[in-house]
Amino acid sequence: MTQEISTTLDVGTTAEMTNFSTLGLHPSVLAAITAVGYEEPSPIQTKSIPLIMAGHDMIGQAQTGTGKTAAFALPILSRIDASRREAQVLVLAPTRELALQVATAFESFAAQMPSVNVVAIYGGAPMGPQLKAIRNGAQVIVATPGRLVDHLSRNGGLLSTVKFLVLDEADEMLKLGFMDDLEVIFNAMPDERQTVLFSATLPASIRGIAEKHLRNPQHVKIASKTQTVARIEQAHLMVHADQKINAVLRLLEVEDFDAMIGFVRTKQATLDIAAALEAKGYKVAALNGDIAQNQRERVIDSLKDGRLNIVIATDVAARGLDVPRITHVFNIDMPYDPESYVHRIGRTGRAGRDGRALLLVTPRERRMLQVIERVTGQKVAEISLPDAKVILQARIRRLTQDLAPRVKDKENKNPELLAHLTTELNCSVEDLALALLAKTTEGQAFTLAGVEREQPVLAPRSRDDRAERGSRPARDGGRDSGSRERREPLALSEGKVRCRTALGTRDGIAARNLLGAILNEGGLTRDAIGRIQIRESFSLVELPEEGLERLLGKLKDTRVGGKALKLRRYRED
Ligand code: ADP
Ligand code: MG
Repeated sequence: MTQEISTTLDVGTTAEMTNFSTLGLHPSVLAAITAVGYEEPSPIQTKSIPLIMAGHDMIGQAQTGTGKTAAFALPILSRIDASRREAQVLVLAPTRELALQVATAFESFAAQMPSVNVVAIYGGAPMGPQLKAIRNGAQVIVATPGRLVDHLSRNGGLLSTVKFLVLDEADEMLKLGFMDDLEVIFNAMPDERQTVLFSATLPASIRGIAEKHLRNPQHVKIASKTQTVARIEQAHLMVHADQKINAVLRLLEVEDFDAMIGFVRTKQATLDIAAALEAKGYKVAALNGDIAQNQRERVIDSLKDGRLNIVIATDVAARGLDVPRITHVFNIDMPYDPESYVHRIGRTGRAGRDGRALLLVTPRERRMLQVIERVTGQKVAEISLPDAKVILQARIRRLTQDLAPRVKDKENKNPELLAHLTTELNCSVEDLALALLAKTTEGQAFTLAGVEREQPVLAPRSRDDRAERGSRPARDGGRDSGSRERREPLALSEGKVRCRTALGTRDGIAARNLLGAILNEGGLTRDAIGRIQIRESFSLVELPEEGLERLLGKLKDTRVGGKALKLRRYRED
């Protein structure tokens, strides 16, 4: 029988704070967590880690993005016998991508355990090296069920030393039709083992598996109760993890805020984002668990009195922070649960003021957004990334607001100086005004072309992003995957020239759209088109140099995704 331990979290209380160091984890694992920058366990981690450490079978149910990987990886790594060079842990994941993500996470949590090795087993790659890694004594195997069954059909004894079995994203595995493969794998496993199952949902089929293959499992569920949210205007923006800093920079240009608190998950992210904002001239500070209490108080005081306008914090570090000036809460990283979302956004809209809450959502976090909307009973409106035009308008508006009181101000004027300068420089008042404008706006573009040029093609990467990106399949051949954004420009193919369009991912463009349009309207064959690079605010396509003018003429009026393609020859200099 399963024992139900349903957990609901109180909002607004700073109830007992769990610390990773109180969960009985191995010191090497604790050291790795510190290095990764996690400050406190997420709710599913707090509940699961002690159970797994105590040797229980368990079922963990929590939404995507709540930290389930660490919930099983940390205790299991703490309990393996690193001195034995044999397979001890098997994690099953539904897809190659997820298997690689989990394998990467295990590797980072085992960074201080040099004798622990991790192997990922998935289809579409040669079996030989995978088998060799297992034979060489990798202790952790992360596998997709299909490929593992292939291995088992050749070598039935492969799993005979495994002591820990994890079914990760179990609902996804069943949706993908792995039920039969799972049975084969269960039969190839020793009976004497600990089995844990993690899933976002628990349909009957999964309960069935649990009843048959888990022993007296403990049931941990992170449930969400309905939340009441103050009248706070909420908006979200879909972005890829590696575009977060860029998105933050652009949104800050157009959001009218007094003071803002931005929430991220790791210490490193507080530092990275604060540094990126500081470089743009914002008065910003990072707040994380490493910052000493007196320094923390200084930061909060500065935010209160306006010496700082932005604080980038982890949830832990922001605890108890109550500054009435805060008009904006920016959820740069997704919170672990709706309760913490509500708690975070409650920092704004204080004292009857209007508040605004922004949320960045990466593609895999979509479901968490839906849960937040359901639990709070409110829609979180979708917004898009402001384009250069909107940014320019916002800059001009700010400059106007800045100058308006000075123009009206009768006191602080110096007509003598004006006369002196126009005489000395032998220029008109208008010339002088233009020169002074250029001076005050230095470092910021005030023309459309200038703002467009400013848009970073390669936004600085935060460490957190790296973790997510690194866990994507390294050999991903996907044409429109975000990882393409990072590649250095390669040498041009023979006889090809690079052409540019101002359409990019923010216009919803993928490589196949561009390819389709150019093939159809340009009357080319596929091999006439070289590499396609889709960036955020533009794209590059390699086209044949011969007949280029004619081709561009044909494509003159071509539209992609409803927008004018306007392809031009692109010269890098
Ligand atoms: P799930 O499997 O529940 O979908 P993941 O295990 O993939 O979630 O974790 C989602 C993200 O949260 C990852 O980027 C992970 O590094 C991060 N994360 C997990 N636990 C913590 C923590 N305690 N502190 C900070 N970040 C965390
Ligand atoms: Mg997961």
